Amino acid sequence: MFTMTTRISVRHTRVGRFFVALLMVFGFASCHHEPKAIQLHGEAQGSYYAITYYDTLQRNLQPVIDSLLSDFDLTASLWEEQSLIRKVNANTDSTVNSLFCDLLTKSLAIEAYTQGAFNCKIGAVVNAWGFGFKHREEVTPQMIDSLLQGTQQLDAAHITVADHNGKTCYTIDKHPNIQIDFNATAQGYSVDLIAQLFDSLGITDYLIDVGGEVIGKGGKPNGEAWIVGIERPAKNRYSTPEVQQAIELKDLSVVTSGNYRKYYEKDGIRYSHTIDPTTGYPVDHTLLSVSVVSREAWYADAMATAFMVMGMEKAIEFIQQHPDNPDIQAVFFIYDNHGTYETYATPAFEKLITQ
Ligand code: AMP
Ligand code: MG
Repeated sequence: MFTMTTRISVRHTRVGRFFVALLMVFGFASCHHEPKAIQLHGEAQGSYYAITYYDTLQRNLQPVIDSLLSDFDLTASLWEEQSLIRKVNANTDSTVNSLFCDLLTKSLAIEAYTQGAFNCKIGAVVNAWGFGFKHREEVTPQMIDSLLQGTQQLDAAHITVADHNGKTCYTIDKHPNIQIDFNATAQGYSVDLIAQLFDSLGITDYLIDVGGEVIGKGGKPNGEAWIVGIERPAKNRYSTPEVQQAIELKDLSVVTSGNYRKYYEKDGIRYSHTIDPTTGYPVDHTLLSVSVVSREAWYADAMATAFMVMGMEKAIEFIQQHPDNPDIQAVFFIYDNHGTYETYATPAFEKLITQ
């Protein structure tokens, strides 16, 4: 069912016109007769955003997008001190908004679907390993065992949706020890929110990139598709990004999860920021990055993290066992084969590769 791609070389000819950290987006068209592309750049979720769109009304949507992203952070960001997620984790608030409820419901559904590879209740373990907003602790097996207890004690039954005088209220009845962490899907979710904004304004051609999570709708006025480059795993977090593979993105999103920029090293061992919820330890396998193509970015984001946890063999097995899910068919793996980078693309992903 799957074909192994040989090592794909970087095609420098198409690289470098427009650059972002995790994914590189390039290939803008420019022609006198075409509507002018509007390009926006800014900061979001401790990272950047880069957006290109075509709007016949030439509206500047930067203020709306900035406020949408900062509202999003006020609900879902662990780095925002006053955020709702910080209050829920500190047990000072249990009433949440519809956005929080949706993020939690979606995360719990992906947890069930991936048999626990994805788990948004892993926050305390993430913190202990030093990947949260707290400093790393001296991790012991006993500590991890006890922190893991909390990861199972919240499911859909703990979310109450009630109507109060025509207003819908959402309450989370969570165990005080549970620390929720939406980081594995939040960036993708925010990409979808911006896409929904464009859709609601009748803007049909856009490319949105928040911290390397991308969605491309429509295309360029000359009929060309959006082209996105997937980064070749870097040697370390300071390495200059290079493109491993370019793909066309039409009404699709692509999200990459990797271990080569977010990690720390101790005694010569590299610890990944992806935690295996069954062991409570950072994943340790030869998989360097996974790119998932889906219709919605939150979904691609969540599945990319889940596949990083599973490792390549189990992830491929999972994809084969779910042939009817159109959102996990186009997947691209980059793994380390005794010091050289090898790639493995599903047939659906190969169809997206630009010639
Ligand atoms: P991503 O870069 O999308 O793969 O998300 C990684 C981030 O999600 C980490 O920095 C943690 O905050 C959190 N995380 C780590 N492991 C998991 C997991 N197994 N399931 C859900 N979230 C996780
Ligand atoms: Mg993710």
